[in-house]
Amino acid sequence: MASISGDEKTDAVVQNKKVALRRYITGLPTEEDMEIIVDTISLRVPAGQTAVLVKNLYLSCDPWMRDRMSKHDDGDPTMLAPDFVIGEAMVNFGVGKVIDSAHPDFTAGDLVWGLSGWEEYTLITQTEYLNKINHSELPLSYYTGVLGMPGLTAYSCFFELGKPKKGDFVFVSAASGAVGQVVGQLAKIAGCYVVGSAGSDEKISLLKTKFGYDDAFNYKSETELGTALKRCLPDGIDIYFDSVGGATLDAALLHMRHGGRIVVCGMVSQYGLEEPYGVRNLYCIIGKTIRMEGFNVNGYFHLYPRLEEEMAGYIKHGKVTIVEDVVEGINGAPAALIGLFSGKNVGKQLVAIARA
Ligand code: NAP
Repeated sequence: MASISGDEKTDAVVQNKKVALRRYITGLPTEEDMEIIVDTISLRVPAGQTAVLVKNLYLSCDPWMRDRMSKHDDGDPTMLAPDFVIGEAMVNFGVGKVIDSAHPDFTAGDLVWGLSGWEEYTLITQTEYLNKINHSELPLSYYTGVLGMPGLTAYSCFFELGKPKKGDFVFVSAASGAVGQVVGQLAKIAGCYVVGSAGSDEKISLLKTKFGYDDAFNYKSETELGTALKRCLPDGIDIYFDSVGGATLDAALLHMRHGGRIVVCGMVSQYGLEEPYGVRNLYCIIGKTIRMEGFNVNGYFHLYPRLEEEMAGYIKHGKVTIVEDVVEGINGAPAALIGLFSGKNVGKQLVAIARA
């Protein structure tokens, strides 16, 4: 892993390795859809730009990157963010160190997290998603997960949409991942009974022993999801935190309690499918007066300062534990990203590319 040397000159031009999209895709991504390009970059912000030049330390792998790898029609209302540009560094959240800044809020040496490039250095011109790191005593990599976008997603989606009450029965899918592991622990802190589903016995063990889930099941080895839900939650579900959609959502709908909430955070089982799963049990939301609501973290960044302080406290007091899956080196980033769609990652998937 490269490190920032003390004598790194801000007026130097250095090598900049980047991960770029090779072509727009349908279906799930493969390593061949991405390429490593070796470029150069000046370590000084060009005159006249209010930009920040960052050395990237950790790159985050997140499922939403899949959406940006397809070509969308102009004005497509389902688009999460602009399509990646072929041949240019892909864009996602990451952790970095400021090398040079022409922005009044940032100075050289600041540790930051936010939207950056999948490359060694990034000139960040759109700084609205760039944040200073206030808890550098915690592992900086946590700012790709629990203290970054996935943590904010877990926190705001669960509390703002799920509106948990003590004693609620909560079901979380993709429960051991970046978002799910935080949701489960927040639900325990809120006094709920929490059940998770995940795709391997190793993950089920983590849910119960590390993250404090009351019960959990491996959806891949269950013959019937409804039976698993009945076994783990005999009185039904008050809050379903949905990260997968498809057959899991269908089974959960049948098992919801009256007045329950389904918070739709993601549908990872559907990303890249040409023919989406047809959900059959939607009628349940009428008789059971279920509130089902979609979530987009973009609308919740105003809650970030609260999340950072609260979560840092939980981590320091041992109330929230984090499991990360760290790949070393930028060359491993494409494989790390595609692993999300087969459940290869155990915990928050990230790529370490330099030390602070
Ligand atoms: P993650 O859970 O760390 O990784 C993705 C996981 O999805 C995999 O480990 C795998 O776990 C599971 N998965 C993959 N394919 C699946 C399938 N066909 N069926 C069921 N599960 C499958 O990812 P994350 O970052 O925490 O994201 C979780 C969800 O939150 C995603 O849907 C993501 O899009 C969503 N999200 C939404 C927002 C928003 O603003 N709405 C923001 C962030 C994240 P298993 O081994 O358990 O299958």
